[in-house]
Amino acid sequence: MREFAYVRAEDVAEAVELAGPQVRYLAGGTNLFDLMREEVERPERVVDISRLPLAAVDDLPDSGLRLGALARNAHVAADDRVRHRYPVLARALLKGASPQLRNRATIGGNLLQRTRCRYFYDLTAACNKRTPGAGCDALAGFNRGHAILGASSSCVAVHPSDMCVALAALDATVNLTGPEGERSVPVTDFHLLPGETPHVETVLRSGELVTSVDLPPWPPVSGDYVKVRDRASYAFALISAAVLLRVEEGRVAVARIALGGVAHKPWRAYAAEELLIGAAADEAAFARAAEEAVAGARPLEHNAFKAEMARRLVRRTLMDLARSS
Ligand SMILES: Cc1cc2nc3c(=O)[nH]c(=O)nc-3n(C[C@H](O)[C@H](O)[C@H](O)COP(=O)(O)OP(=O)(O)OC[C@H]3O[C@@H](n4cnc5c(N)ncnc54)[C@H](O)[C@@H]3O)c2cc1C
Ligand code: SF4
Repeated sequence: MREFAYVRAEDVAEAVELAGPQVRYLAGGTNLFDLMREEVERPERVVDISRLPLAAVDDLPDSGLRLGALARNAHVAADDRVRHRYPVLARALLKGASPQLRNRATIGGNLLQRTRCRYFYDLTAACNKRTPGAGCDALAGFNRGHAILGASSSCVAVHPSDMCVALAALDATVNLTGPEGERSVPVTDFHLLPGETPHVETVLRSGELVTSVDLPPWPPVSGDYVKVRDRASYAFALISAAVLLRVEEGRVAVARIALGGVAHKPWRAYAAEELLIGAAADEAAFARAAEEAVAGARPLEHNAFKAEMARRLVRRTLMDLARSS
């Protein structure tokens, strides 16, 4: 690990003041320290934000919920309001990492964790995300875990977070404070597709701090988060899906579908949702929606199975939710 300066911020304003291009905020450290140890990240200064008063989970006046950026993943998953009003989020959080990591990892850090592409971590490999213009060894390499949707010839990495897939289905909002003040961004716009600049991963501006994530009032729907992975626990998703459904008199009234493990960002399947609204809640409609959810998929040499896996996961989850609603 390279030498770096360490400073602890006492409040949000000081954290923003101490930030800059070669500076990284430190929350739980479960991703940042790994990256620094491997020298993928080489910040000159680390600003410790872990003691800022941003760890609460608060009710919002509209009966939504505000998750502080420093709330631990385990704490949020165990919160009664999250478990009862947003079970899809609680399930997504509990399917991520291990109990020890969830006790340490924070909401803001989970949102900003970086891809697990093995070539990104390997300093001997070519990686446009690590070194812009260097090339991408994953394109012709072992790309079993990589993207099938929204990728580019510059980068085929996927976003690794479970939580963010649930947040995308929930239409959550990310609240930010930076040198130019405060702003809010829908979580579906927060992460970017790679294009020709895969090193630019989010709309976060220099020095901006995530302060919280807002969940809108819970729509009365059934929902589930399902995850397919190589091991039963402690593994990133090959494919995951957050699905919300409400059926009224046999027809679909509300449908939301977000996929994980398929793209550089949590992938909201808007066209599939549109197909479902007003349709009979039956197997044929769910199969059509599942097909649409991966329309335009462009598999790589080793991951053609992902499109079929995503289709089956979406179809089966819709069926299960329809049966139980
Ligand atoms: C072995 C292992 C297995 C894992 N498995 C899974 C899994 O299955 N699913 C899953 O979703 N995740 C998984 N994770 C990832 C884990 O969830 C993340 O490491 C964690 O959420 C990051 O949170 P943190 O608070 O530790 O972030 P940190 O490591 O402290 O920070 C991560 C990044 O976010 C930035 N950052 C942190 N907070 C803020 C903020 N408030 N504002 C602006 N920038 C900020 C930091 O500067 C850094 O760039 C795994 C991690 C490990 C090590
Ligand atoms: S897929 Fe993206 S992160 Fe992986 S090697 Fe290629 S450029 Fe780097």
